[in-house]
Amino acid sequence: MKQKKFIFVTGGTVSGIGKGITVAAISRLFKSHGFSVLPIKMDPYLNKDAGTMNPYQHGEVFVTDDGAETDLDLGHYERFTGVNLTKDSNFTTGSVYAHILDLERRGDFLGKTIQIIPHVTDEIKRRIISATERHNPDITLVEIGGTVGDIEEEQFLESARQIFREYGNENVQFIHVVKIDYVFPSDESKTKPIQQSVALLRSRGIQPDFLIVRCKRPLTKDNQDKISLFTNVREEHVIQAPNVSVIYEVPTYFKRSHLDTYMMRRLGLISQKRDFGEWERRIRKLKNARKKIRIALVGKYIDHTDAYISVEEALVSASAEQGIHVDLVRVDSEHKNLLKSLKNIDGILVPGGFGKRGIEGKIKAIRYARENNIPFLGLCLGLQSAVIEFARNVCGMKNAHSTEFEKNTEYPVIDMLKDQKRLKNLGGTMRLGASTIILKEGTILESLYKRKEVEERHRHRYEVSPKYHDILQKHGLVLSGFATSDKRLVDFIELKNHPFFVATQAHPEFKSRFLEPHPLFRGFIRASAKT
Ligand code: GLN
Repeated sequence: MKQKKFIFVTGGTVSGIGKGITVAAISRLFKSHGFSVLPIKMDPYLNKDAGTMNPYQHGEVFVTDDGAETDLDLGHYERFTGVNLTKDSNFTTGSVYAHILDLERRGDFLGKTIQIIPHVTDEIKRRIISATERHNPDITLVEIGGTVGDIEEEQFLESARQIFREYGNENVQFIHVVKIDYVFPSDESKTKPIQQSVALLRSRGIQPDFLIVRCKRPLTKDNQDKISLFTNVREEHVIQAPNVSVIYEVPTYFKRSHLDTYMMRRLGLISQKRDFGEWERRIRKLKNARKKIRIALVGKYIDHTDAYISVEEALVSASAEQGIHVDLVRVDSEHKNLLKSLKNIDGILVPGGFGKRGIEGKIKAIRYARENNIPFLGLCLGLQSAVIEFARNVCGMKNAHSTEFEKNTEYPVIDMLKDQKRLKNLGGTMRLGASTIILKEGTILESLYKRKEVEERHRHRYEVSPKYHDILQKHGLVLSGFATSDKRLVDFIELKNHPFFVATQAHPEFKSRFLEPHPLFRGFIRASAKT
């Protein structure tokens, strides 16, 4: 077993300033230096996991191979590092309390008083340490959700402090992500909120080793001196993090400030290799891309930028590889003039979703793509909507629908399978996590993947009803991939005689990486760019 090394990342001043990207970018740097990493996100809320949380509040729910429904930061970690994470990489305060209360009911505490210290903190530490032992990485990076000073965060900070005490200064490092303030009307930069945030952290027994300072202008020497003086963080450890147009540039910025060198020195690690070339080449390709295409993302959470984040990042990764600039046009599926906003669009993407709102707009957009030979990619509900559209407008089943939206529809082309219906608990009927799919020979899908058997992640309840497979196929819909576990489950569809009409019941966006864009997105971008 290796010497365990931990990096804790906290946030201060305000929320939403990029702790997740910071952890992802630092993980990338360590990977490029030849180290293995295990990123973990601790979420301070009381929900047991992110599965039931509204995208409006928390953005996308990310799904791991082993079927955990997690915070979207895990998506950043996977895209930046290429590592497949597991349920070990995300837990909430709610899950910690639920576990402890289960033990209490079972009588495990033998009548003792259960307290936040030591019982809750011990459970938090146990999760971090046992995940580290199971995965045996060179470095475990732990992102503490929330902002220092939040009541809910205290138990995480206290657990981190104890790990520092137990594993020692040479093995544990703290990074605090903060934001410089700009007062109006002069727009003068102010460091006071940073000073106060670090003071809060120190009152919890934690002295940060590094500060990542989000800023819209480069820090002045005076800013830097002041921050260092008041926070006791060495001057060269005050790292600037300006806004970047492409988040994948963040590791490059950090490297320019020698953050990687300082961190390795501080943890007693020696770089094993320097593997940054391809990463930086892709960024250059993306930034210098001359060819521009417009992709419409037709969904219902259009004003929340994080709701479809993995889909958007999968498009960015594919476009970086191919040197094409994607202009993403977010189209509200409830928009009255939906078709108007699809004018001059090179490709249409319909992502996943739950609930009836906006479904007719998605169907309309798909019909438009099908009839006008516009490349189309459908994901999960996107596939289901494409099947409904095809049933209605090609097979003549006028009111075809999904029983999720129309219980007594005449043509339930999308339905829950019989054995799924018997299960009472809705959660129990969800297909979650990775499973294998067999592709039909000679299909577009096979040519995209260049393989016969593929693995994709799922998060859905309804299926293309087996009763309608024949009639759909008879009218020309190609069912191009089925689950190996149950041959009734359609995982891919496509159309012949169309430049690119492909949909999947899975969520390929969760498996796309910056250095390894997903074949479906690659194919979609290529078709939309007509290359
Ligand atoms: N609501 C659909 C289902 O449960 C699709 C889910 C999704 O798009 N993730 O089957």
